[in-house]
Amino acid sequence: MDLDETVLDNSPYNGYLLLNGEGYNSESWEKWVDQTSAELVPGAIEFIQLAQNKGIEVLFISNRKESELESTIANLSIQGVQIDISKVFLRAESSEKKSRREQVKSNYRIIMLVGDNLADFAEEFESPLNITQRKALVDRYRQKFGNRFIILPNVMYGGWQKALREEDSAATHQKNKSGAKKFIKGF
Ligand SMILES: [Mg+2]
Repeated sequence: MDLDETVLDNSPYNGYLLLNGEGYNSESWEKWVDQTSAELVPGAIEFIQLAQNKGIEVLFISNRKESELESTIANLSIQGVQIDISKVFLRAESSEKKSRREQVKSNYRIIMLVGDNLADFAEEFESPLNITQRKALVDRYRQKFGNRFIILPNVMYGGWQKALREEDSAATHQKNKSGAKKFIKGF
């Protein structure tokens, strides 16, 4: 399982960014992480406990930095998710998750991946893809979604933002950091 927006709900951090007209930055993010006050995504604890009760090990592969390990474990524990440090794989140098999935595979048989971002599932999603390519790749993995790949919706951020930004012109991007404005359908 991924952590952010899969198990831990960081919407108060994103709310803070909106209220203050700021974009994501590691300084404010670390402040938020240190507060250990994230609540859980609805259903997360029930899912984790159900799996554990069936004798399934739940492991976490997250792009939180290794320096955030202690506060992350504390936050999860406050929310009733007790996990062993050896079950948490955070980001060391690179944000790519494939090598950590491989590491897990050397000791476990992975039966399911749960995340909110396409890069939580397969390495192909780590490469720079435009919207059309992302859609085609999702289509190629169609059989896996819903059983081996469980994706949770995250409208706040994700790999899709980068794809939108690249589709948008650099000039628009200057005025609109998320690059999403052009693609928003309003009434
Ligand atoms: Mg996530």
